[in-house]
Amino acid sequence: MRLAPSPTGYFHVGTARTALFNWILAKQDPEGVFILRVEDTDPERNREEWVQAIYAAMAWLGLDYTGPFRQSENAPAHAAALEALVAAGALYYCDCTPAEVEARKGARATPGYDGYCRDRGLARNERTALRFRTPDEGTIVVPDLVRGEVVFSLSAIDDFVVARSTGEALYALANVVDDRDDAITHVVRGEEHLANAPKQMMLWSALNAATGLEVSLPVFAHLPLLVNEQRKKLSKRRDPVALEMYRDQGYLVAAVLNYLALLGWSPRGDDEIVEMDTIVEQFRLEDVSHSPAFFDVKKLTAFNGTYIRALSPEAFAALCRPWVDPGEVAWRPAGYRPAWGVEDFDPDLFARLVPLIQERVARLDEVPVMVDFFFGEPAHDEAAFAKAITSDPAAPGVLAAALEAYGALGDFGAEALHAATLALGEARGLSLRKAQAPIRCAVTGRLVGPPLFESLALLGRERTLARLRAALEHAA
Ligand code: GLU
Repeated sequence: MRLAPSPTGYFHVGTARTALFNWILAKQDPEGVFILRVEDTDPERNREEWVQAIYAAMAWLGLDYTGPFRQSENAPAHAAALEALVAAGALYYCDCTPAEVEARKGARATPGYDGYCRDRGLARNERTALRFRTPDEGTIVVPDLVRGEVVFSLSAIDDFVVARSTGEALYALANVVDDRDDAITHVVRGEEHLANAPKQMMLWSALNAATGLEVSLPVFAHLPLLVNEQRKKLSKRRDPVALEMYRDQGYLVAAVLNYLALLGWSPRGDDEIVEMDTIVEQFRLEDVSHSPAFFDVKKLTAFNGTYIRALSPEAFAALCRPWVDPGEVAWRPAGYRPAWGVEDFDPDLFARLVPLIQERVARLDEVPVMVDFFFGEPAHDEAAFAKAITSDPAAPGVLAAALEAYGALGDFGAEALHAATLALGEARGLSLRKAQAPIRCAVTGRLVGPPLFESLALLGRERTLARLRAALEHAA
């Protein structure tokens, strides 16, 4: 099994699903090996940072593999394959420019290249690419474990280019040579590669014939397309497709893997939240659906919330560190730093906040705004202030009453704060919710957040009263 990503951009969630399915298949087979092969043979589109992004994504996913290998390492074998194919007559040299090909197209119904150089007997020079001599008639059948037998008409496949004029092998050939040399038995990848499969099959047999080898063709399985809510193919521009974005937003890797497994497949029974062991035990390529799979971010987020709630408080606190601890951490989301300084952060206090927030977040990046008022002064959100305080005629009275009542409490605990707030609200004909709103805004700077009275108790009397006072002044 292999994952063969090209380093041309972000690591796509679809690539993550492909990686997972290949990894599962390798785990299922006692002799299974899953390799990572970076297909880095397109210097114009490849960037080293994308190569590193592939390694980082795989490390985050925790899918272990053999390698990484680089396609460029196998360049001598690609060159040898080209030579053997040329000698066997399977390829020919072509010096047509794209403009010439275009100009000859005219009203021809068949797509692509017209075979102009097929029998011109050109020799290699600095302007000649190498094309594969594709039969003009008949069909080729791709046996696919997901899609069944997929029939391609050969008249629709042109004499495709396998090497540039520089002599470098292109993806179509390099991919086949590498699969052969890596002893790949299963090519499991996204549906967008289905149209490449007949070309690869033809190259495979031509290579066998040219080299006298009889390497058997891998089994193909093309995984269903990922689509968005409008049933359109996920697009880099429109949709959140970069895996690292999910990591940076605080999705748990276990939730992401569980969700990815459901893109085209489902476990037995009604429960979709299942352990990886169960997935590895039950997964079968034959059960993968071929209809497009909806990549539902809302559902993934709901899964994530479930996984977050299932964590022990200690594990949750540890996973929150990149978002809340301004000190040294092993990793932090790109471009993010907590809004408070090292000296303001109190890990023991954070541990005591965990019970107030763990149940209430679906992503770890929701944590900072729930706890920021503990580690710094409340955010100055004028819109929130206007809504909860300035535009509410009862608010100043509530704040003044709270200041007095909270100041007089013997025990500054959540229950006592709750009772005092209930009482001061009742005295003004206000529900508890109504009475809480200006107090929450004054103390936390926001309209929503963790349970108020527990928060005030943890914040302490002094800081609570100071903030009530400041809000009253600000409102006056
Ligand atoms: N390198 C190809 C890509 O990233 C994948 C090739 C394959 O899986 O066969 O799209």
